[in-house]
Amino acid sequence: MAAHLVGDDASPLHVALVESRPAMAEGVAYSTRHGEHLLNVRAAGMSALDDSPGDFVRFLRTLPEYAAEDPAAIGARFMPRRDYARYLGDLLDSRPGQARLRRIAGAAEDVVPVAGGFEVELASGERLHARAVVLAIGNRPARLPRLEGDADAGVAAIEAWDYPAVAAIAPDADVCILGAGLSMVDVVLTLRANGHRGRITSLSRRGLLPLPHAAPAPPADVDLAGLLAMDLAARVRAMRALAAREQAQGRPWQAVLDALRPHVQALWTSLDDAGQRRFLRHVVRHWDVHRHRIAPEIARQLDEATASGQLERLAGRLLAVGPGPRMTIVWRPRGGADVARFEADVLVNALGMDQRIEGGAGLLARLCTRGLLRPGPHRIGAATAGEGVPLGADGRPVVGLWTLGALRVGDLWESIAMPELRGQAQRVAAAVRAHLDAAG
Ligand SMILES: Cc1cc2nc3c(=O)[nH]c(=O)nc-3n(C[C@H](O)[C@H](O)[C@H](O)COP(=O)(O)OP(=O)(O)OC[C@H]3O[C@@H](n4cnc5c(N)ncnc54)[C@H](O)[C@@H]3O)c2cc1C
Repeated sequence: MAAHLVGDDASPLHVALVESRPAMAEGVAYSTRHGEHLLNVRAAGMSALDDSPGDFVRFLRTLPEYAAEDPAAIGARFMPRRDYARYLGDLLDSRPGQARLRRIAGAAEDVVPVAGGFEVELASGERLHARAVVLAIGNRPARLPRLEGDADAGVAAIEAWDYPAVAAIAPDADVCILGAGLSMVDVVLTLRANGHRGRITSLSRRGLLPLPHAAPAPPADVDLAGLLAMDLAARVRAMRALAAREQAQGRPWQAVLDALRPHVQALWTSLDDAGQRRFLRHVVRHWDVHRHRIAPEIARQLDEATASGQLERLAGRLLAVGPGPRMTIVWRPRGGADVARFEADVLVNALGMDQRIEGGAGLLARLCTRGLLRPGPHRIGAATAGEGVPLGADGRPVVGLWTLGALRVGDLWESIAMPELRGQAQRVAAAVRAHLDAAG
């Protein structure tokens, strides 16, 4: 967003970029300094610019470590996420109009409508006047569930996205990771990179792991219009049949997902409310492990850890955590009535993203209270219209305010990865410019 907004010298805007993390242009995903944390998309698919698909590969080739490599070979690789942070930093730094970009380190705590725009209140006490505000605030970590016997103190857990804290886990500690998705994978990779010797147990509702990418293959031939006309159950059956057909013909099932990937928003928005609800209730975890895949080399590491007995995956529900330092993890296996227990020295919260915007004391909760945001469909993300203009408590668009990315998950479902974000950023920037031009 910032790169698009400052990049145009012809119609100059003054942009304030407010970021609460220590570094700009990294976010949670790319702030990891650990080389074992890879992108889950091949480099060729990770350009940040919609109109320049090879931009990330072009950037990588400017780095000495990749300069000699063939661009096609680079494009086919799953690069370290820290290299993506370098790319985003470079993208921002190299845009013209730097003098009009003010980088502010600190949290935005509130956005207050005032005559001619908004006042953005920062944690420092400073107030910024802005004619337009874009909420590009990404993902917040999911909170641990409320547990039996857990008064207000909360259970002491390390956040999976706190990379230094995960890296500091003692190699002999028995570690319980809550969740079995991509954040859990990150934690296991860091533990292994540090020569971990203790037991690693992941506990998640279904115990499903993200599946691996296949070798690059052309997308499958899929009748999209036919799928869009089906209800959810028929779509699931049709996709299973398509995957089986691909495999029977010696092609990877992943080719079906690759064919559907650009159309996920259409698949979501064409379901009615009840269909979307059923998806969230019964299909979502299966969808996630097929859609959010991991690099094959990472899948091999997880297989090794499982085969050696170091990593155990449990399917069930966490009920309680007995007090540390050696904690007792009390859980109920999936589909069972009995309660089981095991011991761990460290608990890691790898439950992924919190999709709710209400509750708590943060910026989003304040904007809900102010009536500038309201929850999106199924109470996930924010309700938005057009190019991400939020709908206020009264159901009307809030003029001058925009959202993109994870905040649009209820409306669009597929709205958290680069292929969607780069297009949204470009279109929201254009909408902001048009709004400011019209306002004079
Ligand atoms: C672990 C992980 C790995 C991922 N890997 C990939 C991948 O390989 N490929 C891919 O396409 N996508 C991946 N994603 C999805 C990823 O979230 C997006 O690609 C992208 O980083 C989202 O960008 P964003 O700018 O919307 O949000 P973020 O990158 O989360 O950035 C939002 C920023 O806003 C800041 N912020 C939030 N609230 C405030 C506030 N009140 N005041 C000031 N600053 C605030 C945050 O500190 C953060 O830096 C991954 C996500 C995670 C969590």
